[in-house]
Amino acid sequence: NKSSPKPHVGFLASPGMGHITPLFELALRLVTQHNFQVTFLVITTDSTAAQYNYLHATPHPDLHIVDLPPADMSGLLFEDMKVLTRLCVIVQESIRSLRSVLLSGLNNRPKLQAFIIDIFCTGVFDTCKDLSIPVYSFFTASTILLAFSLYLPTMDREVEGEFVDLPEPINVPGCNRIRTQDLLNQVRNRKIDEYKWYLMHVSRLSMATGIFVNTWHDLEPEWLKGIKNEQFFVDIPTPPVYPIGPLTKRIESASDENADVKEVMTWLDRQPKDSVLFVALGSGGTLTNLQLTELALGLELSQQRFILVTRTPSDSAFAAFFTVGVDSDDPRAYLPDGFVERTKEVGLVVSSWAPQVVVLNHPSTGAFLSHCGWNSTLESIKHGVPMIGWPLYAEQRMNATMLSDEIGVAVKMPVVGEGGETVVVGRKEIEQVVRAVMEGEEGRKLRRRVKELEASARQTLSCGGPSYETLAGVAESWKRQGCAMTTRSCM
Ligand code: UDP
Repeated sequence: NKSSPKPHVGFLASPGMGHITPLFELALRLVTQHNFQVTFLVITTDSTAAQYNYLHATPHPDLHIVDLPPADMSGLLFEDMKVLTRLCVIVQESIRSLRSVLLSGLNNRPKLQAFIIDIFCTGVFDTCKDLSIPVYSFFTASTILLAFSLYLPTMDREVEGEFVDLPEPINVPGCNRIRTQDLLNQVRNRKIDEYKWYLMHVSRLSMATGIFVNTWHDLEPEWLKGIKNEQFFVDIPTPPVYPIGPLTKRIESASDENADVKEVMTWLDRQPKDSVLFVALGSGGTLTNLQLTELALGLELSQQRFILVTRTPSDSAFAAFFTVGVDSDDPRAYLPDGFVERTKEVGLVVSSWAPQVVVLNHPSTGAFLSHCGWNSTLESIKHGVPMIGWPLYAEQRMNATMLSDEIGVAVKMPVVGEGGETVVVGRKEIEQVVRAVMEGEEGRKLRRRVKELEASARQTLSCGGPSYETLAGVAESWKRQGCAMTTRSCM
């Protein structure tokens, strides 16, 4: 019926591009491919330039971006607060206004058919329950982390002591095992606030009407089979799981303020095919002074072409999360003496932030040294670029192990010791790994495998492909509930 308004879906993402990007890409798919209108609610923080630019780069008449009223954070945030705790406190305070925002009718748009949140916005379940709006969680990380997270409340009840001290790998029912060395840092010490926040949010996952995951069958067949397996369901109450990925960031445009797109493109255009190693450690990753020196000198020894995204070194691996884009220090101040000059024929050093998707999409890029954040992982695979895994924080160690041992698109830099401690990797070892991936047989093998997955990623998202159809099925069910039947199109 042409006169009925389009069905309406709401979104809320916690701050940080790692969450905002996939949720926003899902919102765009719903408006462009499934005929919905979307209200995308945004939590504003001090460092929102990248977020703002991204959300406003693709205007669409059916996609309404609405800032939640800024919360009063006075007295709640402290200098030495860990990133996850800070993020959870910001979200908790910001969603206090959600009820009144939703009740305000959102500019006379129809009632929400569904509300989609990420893992750190689970406070929304209570608000939406009162308003009878079904809430879906979009789990923006890997299925391996989803399986572990769904199992965590059981482990919390049953295991005494620290999980990292368990003598055996973690046996998630019906799934593969997870090495204790690879456990995410939020669960490596059960006494810290980050653990409590994480446990609280994942314990509430079962309140979701459904869980979207940013993955697809060919990428994580074992894990997806595992969490759909009977044994898993019996042990762990799990809402239906919908793999709808890989939903990733679009190619940056020249107007992207945080990324000097033209400079990078011009430089890449002058390099031979598959010859450049892209080195970037996510939205907030940082290395220690010693490790950054070894990395720079290892790259120099390898004599490979490279783009190196650098940040002021720090003893914390996640130091730049709330400041990225603000840190525009001259990298010469902390890179080894003379490094920038000596490597200027083969290397490009970029301070703080690079247009990552532009780089990964460029034919000159031959490999990606990455912290294995899930968005970076999906972007690399979607553009057919093999990886060197250099995990830093969150669940990146699990991802790196899965990418190398199960999927075969990465080699791991040995940055994790047997006991799970972070190890400084020397320049010689870095040189060897870089050469093996850029010029050796190992690199050719990874490249062949990642090209297969690149094709599979394209196929799953196109009309008739598994991820496309999974989302279409859920979208249809929302339309049916709203009695606003609209015809489906594969656009
Ligand atoms: N990113 C970027 N330029 C950079 C570093 C990161 O564009 O120099 C983007 C990257 O494309 C990805 C996101 O930031 O979309 C990082 O997300 P990911 O999940 O990989 O890591 P995290 O946010 O957890 O660090």
